Amino acid sequence: MAKIRKAAVEGWFTWEGGAALIGTRCRNCNTFFFPKESHFCRNPACQGTTFEEVPLSSNGILWSYTNNCYAPPPPYVVEDPFRPYALAAVELGREKMVVLGQVARGFSTADLQVGMPMDLVVEPLFEDEQTEYVVWKWKPAGRAAS
Ligand SMILES: [Zn+2]
Repeated sequence: MAKIRKAAVEGWFTWEGGAALIGTRCRNCNTFFFPKESHFCRNPACQGTTFEEVPLSSNGILWSYTNNCYAPPPPYVVEDPFRPYALAAVELGREKMVVLGQVARGFSTADLQVGMPMDLVVEPLFEDEQTEYVVWKWKPAGRAAS
């Protein structure tokens, strides 16, 4: 029987119709937020208090990266037992904000170079008997895992 796919962090991303992070946009000044902002706008020049949920760019440019050898604090969910992984900071194509994410399976820091194009993917993070928990990750654009 196929396992049920579930988001490891509910409401932060989707994979139906393609992987996408879900953020919000201020209706007043059009600033994007991720994670979602829904109370008051963090733009100091704006008094906005209404937001709409929007899918964010699924690609961007690698801004920085690191090798993560210790388990990060919540809300980042990690495998148990913890296995080191590469972590990428990607500047989203349209919103120009930097979003952190694990690097897709099969890629390491040796595959990464600041300034390279990256694509958002949704991959399993961990699983149990019935459920596969997925999370967003960053993958070098147009490259297969080595
Ligand atoms: Zn605003």
